[in-house]
Amino acid sequence: MRVGIGRDIHKLVTPGKLVLGGVVVDTERGAAAHSDGDALIHAVIDAILGAAGLGDIGDHFPDTDPQYKDIDSRLLLRKAVAHVAEHGWAPAQLDATVILERPKLGRLKGEMRDTLAAELDLPVGAVNVKAKTAEGLDAVGRGEAVAAEAIVTLTKIER
Ligand code: MG
Repeated sequence: MRVGIGRDIHKLVTPGKLVLGGVVVDTERGAAAHSDGDALIHAVIDAILGAAGLGDIGDHFPDTDPQYKDIDSRLLLRKAVAHVAEHGWAPAQLDATVILERPKLGRLKGEMRDTLAAELDLPVGAVNVKAKTAEGLDAVGRGEAVAAEAIVTLTKIER
């Protein structure tokens, strides 16, 4: 078994589109990014790659590469899962936290969890998404950014 950790932060801009865990958030603000800026999925990808000892998201999907411009981060997640599978690893469990000052994400946590479980081919019970604010502190707390943290467990694929 392997464990990996990931984190990400994206600046928020207006107008924009905000996607977290593959779910569109109802707000006029969006994440500034080369991809779709899904900080939650980016943290999950880094946790997956980290657990497998396969570097980080920037190694695999450089933000200078035009093929990843505005890409749906769920596609990057699928590529990361396929990549670790080539090395004999499969996701077994995910716990994640997304930190956004507003709007509150409580209503969307279940949808994010369902989406991530489907992408990772895991039962919903093996995936957890927590939503927090930054209590008005730091850049996230001032509403200038969205951040996410994730921890992933991988198990060896039986061959
Ligand atoms: Mg990112």
